[in-house]
This record gives sequence, structure tokens and C-alpha cells, in this order.
Amino acid sequence: MEASDHLVPIADYLTLEEAEAVGERLIAIGLTPIFRAPPRFARHTTLLVPGGQADRARKLLGPDLRPPPPEEHRKFHPCPKCGADSPRWAGITKLLLLIVLVVVLLLLARTAIFPYALLAAPVLFIVAVWRLPEFECRQCRFRWSKERTR
Ligand SMILES: [Zn+2]
Repeated sequence: MEASDHLVPIADYLTLEEAEAVGERLIAIGLTPIFRAPPRFARHTTLLVPGGQADRARKLLGPDLRPPPPEEHRKFHPCPKCGADSPRWAGITKLLLLIVLVVVLLLLARTAIFPYALLAAPVLFIVAVWRLPEFECRQCRFRWSKERTR
């Protein structure tokens, strides 16, 4: 094996399917791409080629090329609206609500409405969990729950 044949990461893809589609284009021009499965908790597949093929691979990929982001710069829950990094975890409101509900139930424990409160509390909590956003962007204040994969 020559020195230039060590594997070089040329692009990162969010899904294996995406990486494979690009890999097929590389194979079509005679290159030998290799996929590196995402490490635990990371959501990307890295496409690598032997060092001697890197230039040809990059040339072919052109605008599709996504340089591998350095590990420390990978975005954690990027904002769906502006792409800003590291949102505030808005889910804390759910935790606070749970604590408030428990406290209210304890306060009502010896009252006549306690059975009703006991029934209402889980319903209230489930509705809240469903309605309250999970994240809030620090930049544009956009709130969201569901992560978009792209
Ligand atoms: Zn934002």
C-alpha cells in the first residue's frame, strides 16, 4: 500500500442512502469509496476514498461535496429556521409543570376535589407535553419539538 492510499474523508452525509447514492457515482468512474458508519450519537455517514483518488472524487462531487465538519463543530439540534446551534432546552417547562402539578395535588390531598384533581393532573400533563416545544433557538426565538433530518 502506498502512502497516498490511506483513506481520506471527502464528505459527510446525513443518511447512508445519501452517501451510497454519491458512492455509486464514484464507483461509476472507477473509484473505490468506503463508507464509515456514524459513531454513536452522530448522525452522518462519512464517505472516504484512498488518498490517490481524493482529487478525482472531489472534482466529480463538485457542489454535492460536503466537507466533514470537525467533531467539535458538529451542530447539536440546529434551529430549523436559522440553523443556529445549541438551542435552549425548552423542555424544562414540562419538568416545572410536573413539579407544580405534584405540589398542587399534595396541597389538595385532604380536600373534596382531590379525586378530580388526581384525574385532571395526568390529562393536563399529557396535553402540555404534546403542546410545549422541546427547543427554543437562542438566535431567532423559534420554538420546535420535532427534529428535521434535513
Ligand atoms: Zn433560529
